[in-house]
Amino acid sequence: MNDYHIHTPLCHHAVGTPLEYLQTAEKLGLMEIGFADHNPMPAHFDQWRMSFEDLPRYIEMIEEIRGSSIPVRIGLECDYIRGYESWIEQLAAKYPWDFLIGSVHYISPGWAVDDPQYLSRFADYPVQEIWDLYWKNYVEAIKSELFDFVAHPDLPKKFGYRPKGDLARYYEPAIGALVDHGAAYEMNTAGLRKEAEEIYPAYTFVKLAGIAGVPVLINSDAHAPEEVGYNFDFAREIAGKAGYKNTVRFEKRQRIEMPW
Ligand SMILES: [Zn+2]
Ligand SMILES: [Zn+2]
Repeated sequence: MNDYHIHTPLCHHAVGTPLEYLQTAEKLGLMEIGFADHNPMPAHFDQWRMSFEDLPRYIEMIEEIRGSSIPVRIGLECDYIRGYESWIEQLAAKYPWDFLIGSVHYISPGWAVDDPQYLSRFADYPVQEIWDLYWKNYVEAIKSELFDFVAHPDLPKKFGYRPKGDLARYYEPAIGALVDHGAAYEMNTAGLRKEAEEIYPAYTFVKLAGIAGVPVLINSDAHAPEEVGYNFDFAREIAGKAGYKNTVRFEKRQRIEMPW
């Protein structure tokens, strides 16, 4: 197995050196790892990401640990925000990335759905409204075709808030967009560490995406070295139950299928 969603301290909310993350992966017997720290955004954005000036340092510190052990890929976790598509395109051209992840954290200007600072908004707005906004952005992120795969599909459940009824109504448009635009998605085990107490996305999403033939990766979203490969056996079991027999890896933005 691989882990393609690993952060570094350059984003100001992760700890440990790239080498320490790599050492956990070696210990677990992972085949590859990929760093994907939060992308730089223009200066007026939040501080929970690497600064534009740190981009060369980011690449350098990962390149430094390459070659001595398992393959180490270099990517970015990019915030998809409407209007900043050309910013992402510029970042994409700055380095021969192995992969770019598309994420929706901001559901409207200044409101990150996973930030505890805005937790009270779950009391102020109907949960359904928050989910509607999130998934609208998520589908747009997929349609932008800027990304190789999209992250943590049902992130707005992080604090445990889910709308009533069959949530497939949210999953289906996203899965349709993944099919139409040829992107993959991740099963992100960080959800198991949060109030959601569930992998992002829920099993129904994985099941429907599997039927639709959408490629999947299992990632930890590690913000500390000990989180690398977190609960991967459990995630693998769920993916298998949904019918997945393969995963994918990336090299210079080429998607390569591999059996599990
Ligand atoms: Zn983060
Ligand atoms: Zn994220």
